[in-house]
Amino acid sequence: TVRVRFAPSPTGMFHVGGARSALHNWLFAKQHGGVFVLRIEDTDAARNRPEWTEGILAALDWIGIEREGYEGPLFQSHNAEAHRAAAEKLHAGGRAYFCDCTREAVQARSGSQYSGYDGFCRDRGLGAGPGRALRFRTPDDGVTVVKDLVRGEPTFENAKLEDFVIARADGSPVFLLANVVDDTIQGITHVIRAEEHLPNTPKQQLLWVALGHEPPVWAHVPVVVNEKRQKLSKRRDKVALEQFRDEGYLAATMKNYLMLLGWAPSGDREIVPWSVIEDEFRIEDVNPSPAFFDEKKLRAFNGEYIRALSESEFIAVCQPWLTGTETIAAPPWERNDFDPGAFAAVAPLAQTRVATLNEIVPNVDFLFLPEPAIDEAAWAKAMKDGAEDLLRATAAAYRETPWNAEALKAALEAVGAERGLKLGKAQAPVRVAVTGRSVGLPLFESLEVLGRERTLARIDAAAA
Ligand code: GLU
Repeated sequence: TVRVRFAPSPTGMFHVGGARSALHNWLFAKQHGGVFVLRIEDTDAARNRPEWTEGILAALDWIGIEREGYEGPLFQSHNAEAHRAAAEKLHAGGRAYFCDCTREAVQARSGSQYSGYDGFCRDRGLGAGPGRALRFRTPDDGVTVVKDLVRGEPTFENAKLEDFVIARADGSPVFLLANVVDDTIQGITHVIRAEEHLPNTPKQQLLWVALGHEPPVWAHVPVVVNEKRQKLSKRRDKVALEQFRDEGYLAATMKNYLMLLGWAPSGDREIVPWSVIEDEFRIEDVNPSPAFFDEKKLRAFNGEYIRALSESEFIAVCQPWLTGTETIAAPPWERNDFDPGAFAAVAPLAQTRVATLNEIVPNVDFLFLPEPAIDEAAWAKAMKDGAEDLLRATAAAYRETPWNAEALKAALEAVGAERGLKLGKAQAPVRVAVTGRSVGLPLFESLEVLGRERTLARIDAAAA
């Protein structure tokens, strides 16, 4: 049976590229009736932190890879014995040798830049000892052909593969070996991972064979790049899945968008239900060239996904921004001043206008703050000559107007007309007086929800 794994290293925030690999593997297992293994590669003790592992588990849950759906988490550090045993086996079988060369010594021998190990210790027959690393003896000729579902059959000349280190001088196995040993123990049949690992693949395939196993089928999915065609990087780009989540991207948006990196569903469509992706996606169809992570497009997608929610779903997904969480800032109002009924009344208006959920609070805060949060620039612009007079007249009219959006609109239209102002112009000072901002939800519906008393108090205050 098909067994795939997702093998993240818990050394930082969970990257969108990692989420994509997880989804690829998970879906591949699902499509082939196979097993998805989650393996935490926690052998870099200096860089690992338990909270990063927690973050990975939370992120996988969030994006919809449910824990019952996978085997694990397994931990690479638990297999340390097996890693050592494999290194010993390779040494005992003559496939690996000890080496005490320093980088400087190798470079001095070559007389130029360091360009790989020169094989100096191959036949010296050194035993284990301090300062001695274990190197794998790569074949001198022939080629290593890897079967890759995305790239065909990348072929590597063995003569160009250096004798690489498999265990450091302190005896600890390196990533290349630990990763292969875990894959063999866990019965992995397909390794689906990022293109960055392709250069490791011939070396790892040689290890699979030297350890007595049939190598897996590989699939190296394209590197993800930003708009400058640079590989997405933690330092330069927004890459943490958690950050997208906390800005108010929906899990469904991220899940679907990540699958579209290097692949598209049939027909001229991009936004399709997950079930279509599940039916149509084939790892073989992924385009091997770099995939552009287009944040603008992702944002537009997210707006579409938000609009596709039912009213109650929308209200539910807004909750973290309305209350705050460990990672999302609390809204500016007092908890007791929040009125769920008022929020529900304006939620449909907000739903059609936001692209990310963190845009909700600035659109509705005027309902729950005792005083609106004033945007000074907007205020200065709206409160020009005539504004006071208009506000006073509006307040006078609004004392008598039936309190519904239509009547409020008609009353302001009339006040504006008397002063030769179109509704758009007449609205501006009222909107700023009541909400503090120059843009926002439809004004008259907002006033209806805010209520007569608070609306008049704000207009009076602005006119004073
Ligand atoms: N821990 C490695 C990584 O995070 C795993 C590579 C692989 O999937 O083989 O890149």
